[in-house]
Amino acid sequence: MVSIVVSVYNEDDVIVLFFKELCRTLAALDDTFEIIFIDDGSSDNSAMLLDEMAHSDNRVKVVHFSRNFGHEAAMIAGIDHATGDFIICMDADLQNPPELIGKMLEVANAGNDVICMVRTERADAGFFYRLASRLFYRCINHLSETQLLANASDFFLISSRVADALRSNYRERARFLRGIIQLVGFTSTTITYSAPARRAGQSKYSFRKLLSFSLTAIASFSKAPLKLAIYAGILFAVLGIILIIYSIVMWVVQRPIGGYTTLIIFISAFASILFFVLGIMGYYIGFIFDEVKSRPLYTVESIISNTATNTESK
Ligand code: UDP
Ligand code: MG
Repeated sequence: MVSIVVSVYNEDDVIVLFFKELCRTLAALDDTFEIIFIDDGSSDNSAMLLDEMAHSDNRVKVVHFSRNFGHEAAMIAGIDHATGDFIICMDADLQNPPELIGKMLEVANAGNDVICMVRTERADAGFFYRLASRLFYRCINHLSETQLLANASDFFLISSRVADALRSNYRERARFLRGIIQLVGFTSTTITYSAPARRAGQSKYSFRKLLSFSLTAIASFSKAPLKLAIYAGILFAVLGIILIIYSIVMWVVQRPIGGYTTLIIFISAFASILFFVLGIMGYYIGFIFDEVKSRPLYTVESIISNTATNTESK
């Protein structure tokens, strides 16, 4: 059995088309499938369209969230509810082509537990997006102890034992799932693909959301920014020593330097770095705060399938 997990947030423009293409692909394959749609608090007609699919096709299960919890929470909820030997996560906008499922299963059956789908091309990404993305991966790989694949997407396959690890561990609030699946271990491989443009509807990620997502990913994969305080401390100690020596020399040669300018420059630089480092610490403390509160990653309002309807919270 293979589970297909699809996160859906306000996708009523494309979801029916997606389902049609998915069914066409699955019909050509021999495995048994279950399709788990996570309705991430959609406010358009997506919920209704998904429920119709669940009623007409008993492979389909729809998990409705009580509100929008975000793509990462939706994927983990899908993995929690999946029962397959292999689980494939994909987007609902046809940017992750369903035609690749056959190839993914072939590679998985050859003995791979994790398959990361790496984008070689992204039709809807402009120059700025590509640049930002390259910068992000350069940055995270420089700072983190583990190396992450550049251009890995939220399109991936995991085996049930990787899913078990994700269900019982890795329940952190600050999530970067496509990175986490590369940490779990087991045998993993990649398949490259070229991502077409979104078939219909709008991207749900604004620049601000992407930036905040990138910072979360860096913070959840690296403690290096916290060391900045140590480096800043060393820098200012060295600067201070140089200033002391310079002042003594000037005093000896009887040409005392004016204190005001030096003082202002030193204090301004010192204060700006101090507050910058303080900000970084605050940012990490915020993450600790979120973890300590241990609120649910998501809350399920209802589960719709041909057989069951119930409510739960994880
Ligand atoms: N998505 C979601 N919750 C959100 C935002 C997005 O479940 O809060 C889903 C969305 O419906 C889509 C997938 O995540 O299936 C990827 O989102 P999108 O296509 O907007 O991102 P992009 O491809 O532009 O990075
Ligand atoms: Mg998309």
